Amino acid sequence: MVQRILERGEIEALDHTSLPRLRLPELGGVFAPRAARLRELAAGKVAGIPVNPELSGYLLLMADMVSAQAETLATLNTSDAGLPDAATMERAQQHAMPPLAAFAPRGPAWRGILTTLLDKLDSVAARQIEISIVIAALRTMPVEELEALADAVIAQRIDGLNAAQAPFIAAALQVLWTYQASHLQQRQVPVLETGTLCPVCGSHPVASVIRIGGQSQGYRYLQCSLCSSEWHMVRVKCSCCEQNGKISYQGLGYLDAADDTAKGAAAPGNKANDPGKFARAETCDDCHGYRKIFNQEHDYNVEPLADDLASLTLDVLVCEAGYLRASVNPLLWLGNLA
Ligand SMILES: [Zn+2]
Ligand SMILES: [Zn+2]
Repeated sequence: MVQRILERGEIEALDHTSLPRLRLPELGGVFAPRAARLRELAAGKVAGIPVNPELSGYLLLMADMVSAQAETLATLNTSDAGLPDAATMERAQQHAMPPLAAFAPRGPAWRGILTTLLDKLDSVAARQIEISIVIAALRTMPVEELEALADAVIAQRIDGLNAAQAPFIAAALQVLWTYQASHLQQRQVPVLETGTLCPVCGSHPVASVIRIGGQSQGYRYLQCSLCSSEWHMVRVKCSCCEQNGKISYQGLGYLDAADDTAKGAAAPGNKANDPGKFARAETCDDCHGYRKIFNQEHDYNVEPLADDLASLTLDVLVCEAGYLRASVNPLLWLGNLA
């Protein structure tokens, strides 16, 4: 009997099942846990990320926003969210392009989502006059202005962008893209040539996370700032320029030049649940950019976007050391902090 030899493509397919290259979002798995995490962070209950009182007010406000995102997501169905058609999916496969490309022409669905989101924030607006002003402005904004705002948010063009309005626009777009991404199958998402952009929508990642458990044990994923998908990238590699020669890690209050490869895991002092090792910035002296990396081994409840937002102190430290933040946090639109 002749044993059948696997074709090249089949071998690659096997490889992909042993290491999940992509973690697509689940409908209930993004916004509700993120809102809960933001409330924990605001209350100072996350040992690895100390939060000062000024920031905790903002985190609570964003927790309300993210809760409203969860409620809005639950109202969507496949007809009003407009899933991509078969031709779009096929074109994405043929050209190794993201199937939910953020830069492609957009339908009006996201504006309906924004309206629902703003409605769900009514009780927050009633408590906070500043928020009610922003919401009122967004409600009466002409369509062309809203679309221009959405373009700027998707392209992460900070210059000229209204920093108070941007998180609301980003939140509405996130709801739509997360809904759509949750309806994809991994095999529908091609492998892109670049590892630094989301293979589902082509957006920048917000932060890295080293996952634990199951097949993802010890692997680093980048979390998409728009569609909430997570894709695999090897550790000790720059998530901005993909170089790996001049990577360092900086935590809150100490500079750790050593790499964080798995070999360190068994070393004394690197046991699990060490808050000092949870949140770090991965800096690169090739491009002078950085992104944060959170290690689930040291905090099981890690949530990359929320943890990135709450660890603003780390941004200040790393920017003062001369590194540039690689991409924005969709819920906080600031320029360089140095
Ligand atoms: Zn994405
Ligand atoms: Zn780099």
